Amino acid sequence: MSLNLGNWQLDTVNGGMFRLDGGVMFGVVPQQIWKHVAIPDSKNRIQCANHCVLARDGSHTVLVDTGYGGKYALLDRKFYDMEPGEPLLEGLAQLGVLPEAVDCVVFSHLHFDHVGGSMRQDAAKRLSLTFPNAQHVVGRIEWENASSCLPELVTAYSSQEVISLRELTRLRLVEDGEEIVPGLAARLTGGHTEGHLSFMFRSNGQTACYPGDICPSTYHLRRMWHLSYDVLPLETRRNKPRLLAEAADDGWWMLWNHDPTAVVSRVNRDEKREFVAVDSSKTL
Ligand SMILES: [Zn+2]
Repeated sequence: MSLNLGNWQLDTVNGGMFRLDGGVMFGVVPQQIWKHVAIPDSKNRIQCANHCVLARDGSHTVLVDTGYGGKYALLDRKFYDMEPGEPLLEGLAQLGVLPEAVDCVVFSHLHFDHVGGSMRQDAAKRLSLTFPNAQHVVGRIEWENASSCLPELVTAYSSQEVISLRELTRLRLVEDGEEIVPGLAARLTGGHTEGHLSFMFRSNGQTACYPGDICPSTYHLRRMWHLSYDVLPLETRRNKPRLLAEAADDGWWMLWNHDPTAVVSRVNRDEKREFVAVDSSKTL
C-alpha cells in the first residue's frame, strides 16, 4: 500500500536489513535503558531496517537513498549481518520499477548504507551505475566533506564509492532549501554529518518528511537518543527537535529509514518523552 500525498505516490523499498552495534545506535543512552526497546543479539547488535523511498508523480521517478547494495565483501556482510544479493533491486522489481526508469537518485548523506546500492560491481570488480539514467543529487557540503580525504573523516566514507560516483556520473550538488524536482526539497539538518540532508515531499497542502539519520527511527524521537556516528552531536540535539516540532504541529508523515518496527508515522508532542509516534504503519 502506497502513501498518496497529492501528486506523489510514495513507497518504501528495502535497501537491505542489517545489524548495528546497539551502543553506536543510541550514543550516550546506557544499554540498561535502550535494551528494553531494542533487544540486542549476542554480539550487542540491534536489528536495523533500511527503508529507501520511491517517489513517483507521473513526471519523475525519484529514489531516496540506495541501501548498501550487493558488492560488499563477505567479511563486512557477516559483521553487519547484511542480506545477500541486491535487496533494493528486488524491491524495485516487486513494484514493477526497472533501474533504468529511475530518473533521480537523492542521497541524505554518503555513508555506506545510503550510497552503496547506487553502484554495482562485475566479476572484474568494475563499478557501474545501478541507475544509469538518473541524475544523482548530493548536498554540496556533504560532497565537499566526503571527497575531502580529511583524516578525521577517513573512516566515515568509502573512498572507492566517492571517487566512483564522481567518475561515473555528473553529480548535482544542492543547497539547503533547494527544490530538487517540483514538490521535493532538500533541508540541511546537519548533525549526523555536517552536510546531512532531510527531504521534504509536499503536494496539495500535505507534507511527508524523510529525516534520514538525524532521526532514523521512532526509537530516536527523544533529543538525547541519537547515533554515536553523529559528527556534530550538539547540532543533532538542536535540529532534530526543531524538525519534529514542525512535524507534530503541521501533521507531517515521517518516513523512518532504519526503524525495524515502522516505516511511516505521524508524531505528537509528549510531555514526558518529548515526541511520540502515532498512526505508525509497518508497511508502505
Ligand atoms: Zn544510516
